[in-house]
Amino acid sequence: MIVMKFGGTSVEDAKAIDRAAAIVKGRGPEKPVVVVSAMAKVTDALLEMGRAAGAGDRETALKVSRGLRERHYNAAGELLGTGIFTQFHSELEADFDALDELLRGIAAVGELTPRTADHVAAFGEMLSSKLVTAAFSARGMDSSLVDSRACIVTDSSYTRAVPIVEETNERLGLKLTPLLDNGRVPVMGGFIGATRAGVTTTIGRGGSDFSAALVGAGLGAERIEIWTDVDGMMTTDPNLCPEARRIKVISFDEAAELAYFGAKVLHPATVLPAIQKNIPVYVLNSRNPTCEGTKITARAPRCRNSFKAIAAKKRITIVDVAAPRMLMAHGFLKAIFDAFDRHRVPVDVVSTSEVSVSLTVDSNESIPALAADLAKLADVKYEGRKAIVCLVGENLREIPGIAARVFGILTDVNIRMISQGASEINLTFVIDEDDVPRVVRRLHETFFADLDPEVFA
Ligand code: ASP
Ligand code: MG
Repeated sequence: MIVMKFGGTSVEDAKAIDRAAAIVKGRGPEKPVVVVSAMAKVTDALLEMGRAAGAGDRETALKVSRGLRERHYNAAGELLGTGIFTQFHSELEADFDALDELLRGIAAVGELTPRTADHVAAFGEMLSSKLVTAAFSARGMDSSLVDSRACIVTDSSYTRAVPIVEETNERLGLKLTPLLDNGRVPVMGGFIGATRAGVTTTIGRGGSDFSAALVGAGLGAERIEIWTDVDGMMTTDPNLCPEARRIKVISFDEAAELAYFGAKVLHPATVLPAIQKNIPVYVLNSRNPTCEGTKITARAPRCRNSFKAIAAKKRITIVDVAAPRMLMAHGFLKAIFDAFDRHRVPVDVVSTSEVSVSLTVDSNESIPALAADLAKLADVKYEGRKAIVCLVGENLREIPGIAARVFGILTDVNIRMISQGASEINLTFVIDEDDVPRVVRRLHETFFADLDPEVFA
């Protein structure tokens, strides 16, 4: 069997769901289990109405809800023939009535707890999975709606619930295997689960990829397909560098480094359960389904090129902390990191010398207060409009002199920080934001001119 996960933009309207249906139909013999996100932007809208209701603004909450109701009715009307639509319409109506009832309750109490927020957010995937199941049936597929809350068992840390893997696997087997054995296509909503007691939970924003990985790992899928709206992962941002090419295959570790530094296709951490079981994960484009996408595997294949990709992350601030007398004193670095922790500012790149520490953070409005706090410990300077450039490739482990080759072509660039070694597969440095286009293009020209056809499209 395989798992096919369709993200928000791949089920955003009738056209998208129609495309998804055709894609799934083509995979019929491989026994797909389909996992869907809420229609694009629906989760945001649900959380917005939950917050509005929690703040006592019932009217706004119900107004946003009406908009969503409309959108789902329209998609259903376009997707389903009149006969099915009439029946389906009353089902949708009941769901939206229940949602509105819930919003009125929240507004009456004037408080949105995380537990209730999960109840509200879960409507997105509940509705999209129902709609997709009905659309599949209307297109002649034997599809069955499976309630994720009956399969994905989680703890009760609402809004970021943690799946309990063994129980989940057991339930997945019980619910899904008989359907697959009968040639049916199970459809379930991603992102949602329930506690052992049956209380609805969600597993964190963007969690449908994680749901797909859980299902795939639990059932021992041959592969997991993550259907999105891009052709896959690229050697660099095509907006920066039109010569960017698709990466055909990348290791989990490489993909994880890229996600961390700004490539936004998929956060690989969410598919870890699959990778740990050696199940390959494919990123595919539902608008261009014949493109073979990017395959993410546990181990990287051999590659002639030094790097797989270049990522650049802008809007970075460098914080320099200088304390000539104190730095190596025991506990000093801890005191610095404690300050970042107190201000809830995560650090990306760190480099230290005998007398100073430089750290990078995403530019944000907490930095002045953080700097004032740090100034109690040492001399502090900070400077924004910086960017992190990160070259990623498993080959880095083995290639001597690679740093010299990289920096040798950047002799006219002001390099502010350098870091290599933490993961052994990335070479990271910090430059002025304005230098990003020319630096990325030059690196791409140099290191991606002659591409290994096994690895790059
Ligand atoms: N619908 C959820 C979200 O927007 C989960 C997902 O799409 O992965 O976060
Ligand atoms: Mg997503």
